[in-house]
Amino acid sequence: MKYVDLVIANKSDKTDNLYTYGCKDDSVKVGQKVYVPFAKGNRERAAYVFGVSDEPAAEFGNLKYVTRFDEEVSLTEEMIETCRWMKKRYLCRYIDAVEQFTPAGHASRRGKRKKPLEGNRGEPQDIEALTEEQQAALVRISSELKAGRHHLFLLHGITGSGKTEVYMRAIAECVAGGRGAIMLVPEISLTKQITDRFAARFGAENIAILHSRLTPGERYDEWQRIRRGGVRIVIGARSAVFAPLENIGIIILDEEHETTYKSDMTPKYETMEVAIKRAGAWNGIVIAGSATPSVVTYQRSLEGIYERLTMKNRYNMVKLPQVRVVDMREEMKRGNTSIISSRLYDEMERQLEQGKQVILFLNRRGYATFVSCRNCGYVITCPRCGISLTYHKSSGRGVCHYCGHEEKIPSVCPECGSREISYQGSGTEKVAEKIAALFPEYPIARLDLDTMKKRGATEKILDDFASGKTRILTGTQVVAKGLDFRNVGLVGIVSADVSLHIPDYRSPERTFQLIAQAAGRAGRGDESGKVIIQTYAPDNYAVQAAAAQDYQSFFREEIAVRKFMGYPPYSDLIQVVFSGKQRDRVSRAASLWEGQLHRMLGEANADSILKPQEMQTIPEKEGYKMSLLLKCGRGRRGLYMGALNDLKNRLKMKKRADYRVYIDVNPYSLWRN
Ligand code: ADP
Ligand code: ZN
Ligand code: ZN
Repeated sequence: MKYVDLVIANKSDKTDNLYTYGCKDDSVKVGQKVYVPFAKGNRERAAYVFGVSDEPAAEFGNLKYVTRFDEEVSLTEEMIETCRWMKKRYLCRYIDAVEQFTPAGHASRRGKRKKPLEGNRGEPQDIEALTEEQQAALVRISSELKAGRHHLFLLHGITGSGKTEVYMRAIAECVAGGRGAIMLVPEISLTKQITDRFAARFGAENIAILHSRLTPGERYDEWQRIRRGGVRIVIGARSAVFAPLENIGIIILDEEHETTYKSDMTPKYETMEVAIKRAGAWNGIVIAGSATPSVVTYQRSLEGIYERLTMKNRYNMVKLPQVRVVDMREEMKRGNTSIISSRLYDEMERQLEQGKQVILFLNRRGYATFVSCRNCGYVITCPRCGISLTYHKSSGRGVCHYCGHEEKIPSVCPECGSREISYQGSGTEKVAEKIAALFPEYPIARLDLDTMKKRGATEKILDDFASGKTRILTGTQVVAKGLDFRNVGLVGIVSADVSLHIPDYRSPERTFQLIAQAAGRAGRGDESGKVIIQTYAPDNYAVQAAAAQDYQSFFREEIAVRKFMGYPPYSDLIQVVFSGKQRDRVSRAASLWEGQLHRMLGEANADSILKPQEMQTIPEKEGYKMSLLLKCGRGRRGLYMGALNDLKNRLKMKKRADYRVYIDVNPYSLWRN
């Protein structure tokens, strides 16, 4: 007879506890999925074993018993330990953490379904010798792998320096030693390029893929292949960090600076932190790779938390692309009001005539970003956010890019009745249309959230561009990321300033990264490419450093600003969001917590508790939301999260709460939700 502590598979704060049950089968283990009678009605519920002991922690009047084990699904002790840690770190419910590890979905009907990688033979690439830099990086990585020491690396390698080759060799070594490897990429659309390369190297049968686009059946089957030890290499987007591997030797985050590594759903985890936690449990290593590391990670490498490995050259010594900055204010003065400067036009023509391909990058989708009445100046705005709606020509609708609100754009002004509606500002849809008109003889494709919606569409667009069927590819940040095309002679950045005007402390960082990454798509074959950056802010430090491809100078400027302002990495921004149906209650709750936090954290932390702010919502739909922001200095996270946890527990004890709370550390966007 054993006593087990269980987490019940029930999504409620009220049941977010460990429940003690008896278990008559002594073989019960931590991580096991079981079924138990629960609550008053004793309805059978799934549950997960978090602890097993011979003695009960207390006397139980009417101890209930585990009725049966789940034969298909079980977690490991390490996973359960990670769940406990996540609950503390992110103040999520136990079950929210557990569900990241479980397969979700059910066994698919056998034979009906194709494995995600079936029939994928990949394209083998001949790599005879590593470059000196690759070799040096690998020597350090394998020495830690061999020693079986937990260690963190930042692989800072310029685009095209051959980071992927380093990843593959490190993984080969890791799996040869009988250990597991997780390869993470920032976006599902990038998994195909990388799985092709991995399949060619390791064989499709030795790789599992995990990401949120798999059907439940696919996901379940991949999960079981991994859990049963059938595969040791897992590739996927951020959720793959929860792959049910044991004996993890290596976890790699490619393009570690990407914001998609931060979860925007509960639990709001940071993928890097989970990777470090999991690899740490197995004495494995973590590699964060990027050409443009996040300011936070780079600073940590200076402090010795990550060991930095640098690759400054492209593998074939092809020079970095030649970058030109075009000041669009001058272009305007000369009377060119088009979105394409004469320099960009001329260079496109030259490259296309030489048989080269062109990528045009603009981080704004849709057709026009601003719809207004010429007669009275009325601007069509989102009823919820107050910002101007973006006109999408293909659907004829106005879309709010913050909250997703959509409406038909009227043909007459709702204010004055005039028919003089004007469409200003340009997005990718307009760029594609303009370019098609300017270069009718060259096929063009557009890659952005709108064209990627259909299943398989992304792959088709990328394949067509890779094969040369399309000559011009225009799109948003997806075209800037990780893609490796050999024949791209020119990358045009249509407007470098777009991300500069977003009210977020990370805007300069995003701007630098996007330009530098987009520029890195040029000249990946045997000749160096060209990059043209169009901007209205040629003097901005992020734009200048990106144009000069000078990470160091960007970092120096940026870290000084962060330090002065007390932003990450010098603090953690903890956002506490209150929501509820009645505005006064939500607002009262926020003030209440504010007061409590002042008391709990004391005078020394008073400045770090900012005044609660109301957030934008559609009241009829989602009620009201208030945001309370804490700027938590270094080394104080435990203190702050502890206080928040106490307050959360108090709220849980209340019979009836008229508001809800969730907590997000370093959220991706502070101003909307
Ligand atoms: P990164 O990820 O650093 O941008 P990749 O790993 O995609 O760079 O490498 C760019 C290209 O260089 C790829 O096509 C890759 O096959 C090739 N490559 C990398 N290392 C070598 C090498 N040592 N010898 C020959 N080709 C290489
Ligand atoms: Zn009007
Ligand atoms: Zn909106």
